[in-house]
Amino acid sequence: MTAQLLDGKAIASHIQQTIRLRVQERLASGVRAPGLAVILVGRDAASEIYVRNKRRACLETGINSFFYDLPAQVSPDELLSLIDRLNEDPMVDGILVQQPLPPQIDQEQVVERIRPDKDVDGFHAYNLGRLALGIPVLRPCTPRGVMTLLESTGVVLRGQEAVVVGASNVVGKPMALELLRAECTVTVCHIATRDLPEQVARAEVLIVAVGHPHLIQGSWIRPGAIVVDVGINRHPNGRLVGDVVFEAACTRAAWITPVPGGVGPMTVATLLSNTLDAAEQLHR
Ligand code: NAD
Repeated sequence: MTAQLLDGKAIASHIQQTIRLRVQERLASGVRAPGLAVILVGRDAASEIYVRNKRRACLETGINSFFYDLPAQVSPDELLSLIDRLNEDPMVDGILVQQPLPPQIDQEQVVERIRPDKDVDGFHAYNLGRLALGIPVLRPCTPRGVMTLLESTGVVLRGQEAVVVGASNVVGKPMALELLRAECTVTVCHIATRDLPEQVARAEVLIVAVGHPHLIQGSWIRPGAIVVDVGINRHPNGRLVGDVVFEAACTRAAWITPVPGGVGPMTVATLLSNTLDAAEQLHR
């Protein structure tokens, strides 16, 4: 079997076109464009690339973006008071604080300070709680983007055996909640999971979000599985690679995401969808 590619780049581009049209409709009816505020603290190289991609996507869709580059040594109070101002700013529908944050900043405190209806990353306890209850409002971008990719295959998810490798608060856990909501039977694996190959071999839907290059061997993949590789790792030769051995997995999977060009563009497109959703909820 040779897997079909789950082309995140093409699907994300289609989502962005739809958002652009919706923004134009709003403008034509006299409603301002949605506004996204992005806060970057320090000079993390990967974060700078992610923020640049978000800025470009905002420009392409007509979403207003407001960028705040804060020095690495910014005090917690300065960052929190900027969030307070943006929470009250009527031009801002969505607020995103790019992670990771420097050690003097308490990440949880920052996330909890963002107003839940402007939390377009979907990381606030309110939004994660709503997802856990099956009544989501703003859904975490990467898992929501993965669900869009899975839906694009046309495979009925209900009843599928789904395995998520990685259990972080930003990807693995909300991913498991999304799959549960789609009525999959969900297993979550993490660093302490005893027999990872055995767990992976059961997966009809396999989502991997670890950050460990080539952790998942092709021979572990269940024939016919849908494989979504969330991992982004920089190979010593400079290339980006995922957590799955792509070529070997292609010989067994029915569908697979490339890295790059799979989940990454979906995360950005979903952030813009969340910003539009936040704007439409605030200005119903
Ligand atoms: P994280 O470090 O917060 O969490 C990693 C998870 O993997 C943990 O639950 C840990 O227990 C588990 N883990 C670690 N080693 C393992 C092993 N050997 N076997 C099984 N589980 C193991 O990472 P994260 O923030 O969830 O990100 C994971 C990866 O996804 C990273 O490569 C990150 O760059 C990437 N990422 C990509 C996107 C995107 O848009 N494509 C978005 C977010 C994160």
